[in-house]
Amino acid sequence: TKEQHYRDTWAEVNLDAIRHNVRAVRACVGPDIMIMAVVKANAYGHGASPVVKAAIEAGANYLGVATLDEAIALRRAGIELPILVLGYVSGEYAIVAARQRIVLTVVGLQHAKELVAKFPRGQMIDLHVHLKLDTGMGRLGVRTADELAMEVEAISAHPSIYIDGAFTHFAQADSAEKTYTMQQLQQASELFYALRNTMHLNTAESLILHAANSAAILQFPESYLNMVRLGISLYGVYPSSEVNRDRITLRQTLTMYTRIAYCKVLPPGTSVSYGRTFITKQTMKVATLPVGYADGYHRSLSNRGYAVVRGVKCPIVGMICMDQTMIDVSQVDGVEAGEVVTIYDEQTLPELADLAQTIPYELLCSISPRVPRRYV
Ligand code: PLP
Repeated sequence: TKEQHYRDTWAEVNLDAIRHNVRAVRACVGPDIMIMAVVKANAYGHGASPVVKAAIEAGANYLGVATLDEAIALRRAGIELPILVLGYVSGEYAIVAARQRIVLTVVGLQHAKELVAKFPRGQMIDLHVHLKLDTGMGRLGVRTADELAMEVEAISAHPSIYIDGAFTHFAQADSAEKTYTMQQLQQASELFYALRNTMHLNTAESLILHAANSAAILQFPESYLNMVRLGISLYGVYPSSEVNRDRITLRQTLTMYTRIAYCKVLPPGTSVSYGRTFITKQTMKVATLPVGYADGYHRSLSNRGYAVVRGVKCPIVGMICMDQTMIDVSQVDGVEAGEVVTIYDEQTLPELADLAQTIPYELLCSISPRVPRRYV
C-alpha cells in the first residue's frame, strides 16, 4: 500500500528522467561497458528503491552504495543486481555482506587482513571484493604496486575471499583543467597492470576495473574501462558548471515544492524571523512556507536564497527556521495561501547551491525523510 502523507511540502521525482539519463549514458558509453548506478544516501535524496528499479529498467548493470545498511535495504526491497559498497565495512560484518551477496571494497592492507581474520572459513560461503586504489584522491585505497601486492597476498591466504575487481576515484574530473585526472588515470592503469601480474591473470581474464564518476563519463572516455559509476548525473544534474555538456543531455529528476501556509503585508521597519536579521525597508508582502532546515532546506540560504512563485524569484527574508521559511512575494500580484512554490528545480538548483556555498549534491541528499517523495 502507498504511504499516505498529509503535508504541503514534497519532492517530485520523475522516474522517466532517471530512465532517460541511464539511456543517455548508455548511448555515450556503448553496449559493452557496465553502468553502475550510484544510489548511496537514499539515491542522493530521491528514494533508493524506486530509483534503482527505474535505473535497472533502463539498463543499469550494477549498484553502488556507501554503507552495508544501504546495500541490505536494497536486497530487502527485492533487488537482485550486484551491489558494491564503496566505503569501508568492518570485517565484523563481512559475513552479513557475503550472505546477501554484497560485494565489499577493500580499503587498504590493514582492512584486507581484518577481512581475512574475521571472515569464517569452511562454511561454503564466499565473500567477493573490489580493491580500492588511491591514485590521487587521498581518501581510501593503496597507493603503490608494493602495497597492492601485499594486499593481494593477504587476501589470497583466505580460501573463500575473491577479488572481482579494482577501482579508483577521481578528485577533479569535473574541472576544465584535465591534467590531474589524466595523471590519476595513468597511475590507475599502472596499478591495474601490477594487479594482473600479481594475480597471474592475463588481460583477457575478467577483473571489473572502474574509475569514471559522472564527470569522467562526460569528459574522459579513456577512463571508462569495464564499468562507469554514474552518480549525480543519474539524477540529471551536471557535476559542475565547468563540465562539457555536449556529449550527454540530462534531465533533472527531482523538483521540490511547497504551498504557502500564510500571507501578510508588513509595514516598513518590521523584523522577520529569529534574531531579527531582516527588517523591512518598505511595505512588504511576506509569505510563510511550511518548509525549514529540518526538511533539509539549508539555513545558509537565509537572506541569500530564493524560492520561485509563478516564475518569479522571491527572496528568502530572515533566518530559515526548523520548519518554516519566509519569502518576499511583493513582486507577484495577488499571491495567496495555498499557492505552489518551487524550492528547487532544474533551473535553480545549481545557483541555490552556490548561494548556500555548497554543491547540488549536498542540497539533494539533505532533503530529509520528513519530505514525502512523489514519484511520477
Ligand atoms: N564513485 C565513488 C567512489 C563515489 O564516492 C561517488 C560519489 O561520491 C561516485 C562514484 C559518484 O560520483 P558522482 O556523483 O560525481 O557521479
